[in-house]
Amino acid sequence: MKKLLNFVLFLTLCAISMPVLTVGLAAEEEMPVFVQPEAFVSETVLTQPQIQHKPGFDEDTMVTLLCGGTIRELPLEEYLLGVLAAEMPAGFPEEALKAQAVAARTYTLYKMALYEEGQDTVHQGADLCDDPGHCEAFADLTTQAAALWGDSADIYRQRLQTAVKETDGLILVYEEQPIAAVFCAASTEKTESAKDIWGSDLPYLVSVESPGGRDCSRFEGTVTVAQTAFAAAVQAQFPDADFSEAPITWFRDSHRSEAGSVIDVLVGGVRLSGSQVRQIAGLNSANFTVKVQGGDLVFSTVGYGHGVGLSQYGARYLALDGQTYDQILSHYYPGTQLRLEG
Ligand SMILES: [Zn+2]
Repeated sequence: MKKLLNFVLFLTLCAISMPVLTVGLAAEEEMPVFVQPEAFVSETVLTQPQIQHKPGFDEDTMVTLLCGGTIRELPLEEYLLGVLAAEMPAGFPEEALKAQAVAARTYTLYKMALYEEGQDTVHQGADLCDDPGHCEAFADLTTQAAALWGDSADIYRQRLQTAVKETDGLILVYEEQPIAAVFCAASTEKTESAKDIWGSDLPYLVSVESPGGRDCSRFEGTVTVAQTAFAAAVQAQFPDADFSEAPITWFRDSHRSEAGSVIDVLVGGVRLSGSQVRQIAGLNSANFTVKVQGGDLVFSTVGYGHGVGLSQYGARYLALDGQTYDQILSHYYPGTQLRLEG
């Protein structure tokens, strides 16, 4: 029972804390990082991992998706294309896109297995939903490709198709089980561990070095919140919080992870996790500082997302540095192996 409770806790915390690039953000971040696909052709050919594919798993595996309030059934291949389109800028290097494709496929199978075990309470019977805060974001390319990518839609779609096809059926396993392959937009110089952020000690979600996060335009962020609004939002969830003292005293006794995120902090005398503060104040990450300015609280953040698992900008950096997708994945999910399904 304890194991199950831990599992549920982990999932709940994932749901609160798994910000990823939404469709809108992905599109907005697209242009500055676009790299012509041709630039990667020779590199890809030279460094392709020697993995024998048996194509067809993604095409043959059907998933049911709760999307816009209705349930639809679609092949895993089409689902993954939509996830990649929504979760990672399509102009990223091909090896980063492949790493993302494997992570997304793995996380999909992980979630499907969980819900098959009867832990589905929000999907109305479907395997997955399109809420990035709970499962993975999804963009339906039959209707959204032009809005996402404009005149470059054909090029971008082709890049994502290549990433999915060339990793067809590949997932990451730990002790023979698909892993919780969570990912984030941009970690700081180190990723966060699942233990520090969610309290779940998973051997493959530990803190590792992660370059390239600063290349994300949202790596540094500022959020200004009126003190009254913040106090009301905290008290709505935590009625015992007391904000009668001067605002300078509201935040006390914080603990930080080695990578920098706030693990927990006293807020109005109530101990909240950094993720909870992040959610309440609408911060880019839990790696924040706060100062009092007039009638406001000004939060400054570094990193974008929860910082656990694969950092998308880290994957981009490593791919541009010549690493292949399997190397990128083994860096961000240490101790895991690639396994070919089907
Ligand atoms: Zn879901």
